[in-house]
Amino acid sequence: MFDYHVHTHYSADCETPMRASCEAAIAAGITEIAFTDHIEHEPADESFGYYRYDAYREELDRARDEFGDRLTILAGAEVDFNTGIADQVEQFLATHTYDFIIGSVHYGQNGALIFPEYFAGKSLDDVFLPYYEQIQAAVETGWFDTIGHIDLPKRYKPAAHGSYDPERYRSSLQHIFTALIDHGTSFEINTSGLRQPPRASMPGPRIVGWYVETGGELITTGTDSHVPGTIGVGLPETLEMLQLCGITAVSSFRGRRRSSVPIATLLPAPVV
Ligand SMILES: [Zn+2]
Ligand SMILES: [Zn+2]
Repeated sequence: MFDYHVHTHYSADCETPMRASCEAAIAAGITEIAFTDHIEHEPADESFGYYRYDAYREELDRARDEFGDRLTILAGAEVDFNTGIADQVEQFLATHTYDFIIGSVHYGQNGALIFPEYFAGKSLDDVFLPYYEQIQAAVETGWFDTIGHIDLPKRYKPAAHGSYDPERYRSSLQHIFTALIDHGTSFEINTSGLRQPPRASMPGPRIVGWYVETGGELITTGTDSHVPGTIGVGLPETLEMLQLCGITAVSSFRGRRRSSVPIATLLPAPVV
């Protein structure tokens, strides 16, 4: 199984060294891990100015020396994107080398982080429609290998705002699917939603099903772990969900080049 969304202490919101995560990944049956720390260009964000590329690469090399015979370790990044910081993101990507890059939208309008407080005074449409416009813009850059947690606002939506129904945003999602397919870009199944509210992966099976109906077939998988204990959590269920939706393979990366690996070869053998 592939855990392609793992943070380390090079992210401001994480204290975990790579070594601990590699040990946890091997114990969890992960065969490929991507360390995807926050690359942040929003000045207000706690991760702004925090990342250290050279130190990250050195620790990655040490992890490969120690664990490389049991675990494929990829240099990754979770790059925050919105149209207000596109120039800085483009400049960063032009000057740094990775195996795999997630493009994620974390900020809403007026430079505000999409957290529960962001919903105050807004309808769900006020939150989701501009969010999906930014996802669309991220896809259309063609800069990213995969798009992170494609329906992130549902994770932070206060209960008082009612339930999130992806059907309401289907036309936004269809535009995004078309752009994803045109650019050969995937989105991830981010399992962090399974272990905390909303108790559903981001996205869930309905969105995956629509993507498949549109002709999409490229998916990455990741836990968005910030501690070793969650590495790999939810991935077997996610692979089964993907198969039920008609996805037969997940993406693997080396040096930004994608290959597809059949899910049937990744699922743990059933216990008999
Ligand atoms: Zn994220
Ligand atoms: Zn993340």
